[in-house]
Amino acid sequence: MSVITAMEILDIRFPTSRELDGSDAMNPDPDYSAAYLILRTDAEDGHEGHGFVFTIGRGNEVETAAIAALREHLLGRDAEELLADMGAAWKLLAHDSQLRWLGPEKGVMHMAIGAVVNALWDLKAKRAGLPLWELLASMSPEEIVSLVDFRYLSDALTPEDALGILRAAEPGRTARRTELLAEGYPGYTTTPGWLGYSDSKLSRLAKEAVAEGFTQIKLKVGASLEDDIRRIRTAREAVGPDVRIAVDANQRWDVQEAIEWMRHLAPYDVAWIEEPTSPDDILGHAAIARGVAPIPVATGEHVQNRVVFKQMLQAGSLQVLQLDAARVAGVNENIAILLLAAKFGVRVCPHAGGVGLCEAVQHLSMFDFVAVSGTMEDRMIEFVDHLHEHFVTPVDVHSGAYWPPSAPGAGNEMLAASLADYRYPDGPVWAAEANTAAASTAAVES
Ligand SMILES: [Mg+2]
Repeated sequence: MSVITAMEILDIRFPTSRELDGSDAMNPDPDYSAAYLILRTDAEDGHEGHGFVFTIGRGNEVETAAIAALREHLLGRDAEELLADMGAAWKLLAHDSQLRWLGPEKGVMHMAIGAVVNALWDLKAKRAGLPLWELLASMSPEEIVSLVDFRYLSDALTPEDALGILRAAEPGRTARRTELLAEGYPGYTTTPGWLGYSDSKLSRLAKEAVAEGFTQIKLKVGASLEDDIRRIRTAREAVGPDVRIAVDANQRWDVQEAIEWMRHLAPYDVAWIEEPTSPDDILGHAAIARGVAPIPVATGEHVQNRVVFKQMLQAGSLQVLQLDAARVAGVNENIAILLLAAKFGVRVCPHAGGVGLCEAVQHLSMFDFVAVSGTMEDRMIEFVDHLHEHFVTPVDVHSGAYWPPSAPGAGNEMLAASLADYRYPDGPVWAAEANTAAASTAAVES
């Protein structure tokens, strides 16, 4: 037996807004941040479980408080018992009868549960000596089904359905694992397309992306139709006819506006329209999907839980499902979402970028390929080339693909030096920022 002895919770922020990296129509000045958790036990192996919620700055302190609210379920508990039955561990956290009031199963509290669940998976994978994708892909169909809470899903996906999907994929696991190691998992890049970049920077970065082997790029749109038409034309000229260009409105539009706006971008051959409107608007997305067809609608990075994904699949609201490693309640709920996507035959192209999202979500896509959907066709993981240097096991992305991680764990762990430097507000990076701000205020006043 080993006991969980500590939860270290850190407010980590990167001052990314200075460079307009990550700027889009709804989020003009993000400081990529992590409400970061380290679980420690008294086991002699010394392994820690790391997990985080991704945020974009202000409010990261709210997320850290939500993680702290889960303390009583973790501190002093037998780690083996929790890790041996991760389905029960998920329910222990997600079904807390008082905390549940804050959702239920959505928003700040649900995301905090995700950080804890992902930290437990990180610890479990480290103890098993396996990267998370391999740990999950080595579990039996019955074990995988036991991870999922089917409450609210059974009208669309039953445990028997899930078992059927997983059993059908079982005979091909070994061959697909070999294929994954040899060929990687396709990626696409959003690096060229941030809204704050000039046309010349967009054109240069788009050409670089193609030279690096990417077959799809993505542009942020939705602030100005005139600018969007000029930018997509610039991008199309830069990449030529054979590279796919997706566009992402980051929830900027109403339903009719989305349909109208996309009429003007459609001539440039759009791979998908992402987050056209509110992530809660299931029927609105369905109307947009009908209105912009054959352009697929993509969404998911802000879809709050498996129940909304279920309805979106039932309603035909999305043709590309973009799950996120840190939006819902962790690995378990994302497995439910992968199974729903497989049941409905919808492709999954995860959201990533931010800080640590690429490192974390690649495990889910690779597990999906080996053990769930069994396909990489038309699927790819988003890639943004920012902040990877802060991770113990940064992603290996080259030749347009993610290459499977081999290090034990879930990929969530940041370097200790980065955690120290970027701690908000007292880490050296932010202390220097405060000094600079104070100096410029003094200069203006004098
Ligand atoms: Mg997006």
